Amino acid sequence: MAVTVENLSKKYGSQIAVDNISFTVNTGEVVGFLGPNGAGKSTTMKMITCFIAPASGDVRLDQFSIHEDAEEIKKRIGYLPENNPLYTDMPVIEYLQFCGEVQGMAKGEISARMHEMIEKCGLDTEKHKKINELSKGYRQRVGLAQAMIHDPEVLILDEPTSGLDPNQIVEIRNLIKELGKEKTVILSSHILSEVEATCDRIIIINNGRIVADGTSLSLRQQAQGQELLNIEIEAEADYDNVLEELTGLASVETARKRNGQEGKFRIQSKPDKSSRKAVFDLCVKNKWYLTEMTAIETKLEDVFRELTN
Ligand code: ADP
Repeated sequence: MAVTVENLSKKYGSQIAVDNISFTVNTGEVVGFLGPNGAGKSTTMKMITCFIAPASGDVRLDQFSIHEDAEEIKKRIGYLPENNPLYTDMPVIEYLQFCGEVQGMAKGEISARMHEMIEKCGLDTEKHKKINELSKGYRQRVGLAQAMIHDPEVLILDEPTSGLDPNQIVEIRNLIKELGKEKTVILSSHILSEVEATCDRIIIINNGRIVADGTSLSLRQQAQGQELLNIEIEAEADYDNVLEELTGLASVETARKRNGQEGKFRIQSKPDKSSRKAVFDLCVKNKWYLTEMTAIETKLEDVFRELTN
């Protein structure tokens, strides 16, 4: 089931929380909504799940629109809200039973499904405990189990790993990846490594707007666009002449000395070109020793910082 968000906006008083965003998420995709705190991620998720109404725009799940078919949409969406609110006085098993009833599931259907979720979310040892007796990681599993109890086709998970320790994070990530094979999943996080590890695609949101949309690789390439090389050359020649020759190569956009060190250069190739062979040939021709040639990869952290600062 595809989720299509079209020109969605939301204001709180005079503050624009979500500003005319559009994107589509297809079945079997796990998409990460990445952005700093206050970017508008939760607000967007609340509109997708019909928790709050947009100021303008639409969200569709296949043919269903949040404006005309909110009930149909709610049946097909599982939602883990921000801060995972749960009825903490209830034992896990009763809570999940209750969630199934609220979702309008048939009585006979609930028990089997509940046990399936308990198994899938690794809750078997904890199922008779009250939720307030559970660790944060297990509570998060209960949150995921309640989101999935009615077997929704779409899962919206707001910061699903927040507050968990590193082992719990890995477990929840694996669970989400597993779920993502069959479902359409949108999750949010302000942690880059989180979305990179879990998601097929990343949508970066800042100040209520989408500032990037793609795979982690494509975002890196988009930001980079040009090949950057660190070069070190040992030569008898004057290094200013070496620099001049490097600058003169047809494929080179810029060449400059690296930190003023003799023989060390930083080369930026022209867009979509590579200078590696030309640099090598130049060194051979002049009998210089090429002692280093490394490509510098743009880090996704840098892309994120650049887009959201
Ligand atoms: P995120 O999930 O990316 O951290 P939110 O969607 O929670 O961002 O918030 C987006 C902006 O809207 C923030 O500036 C936040 O302060 C504001 N906001 C969120 N909820 C409310 C609310 N109920 N009333 C007023 N402002 C809100």
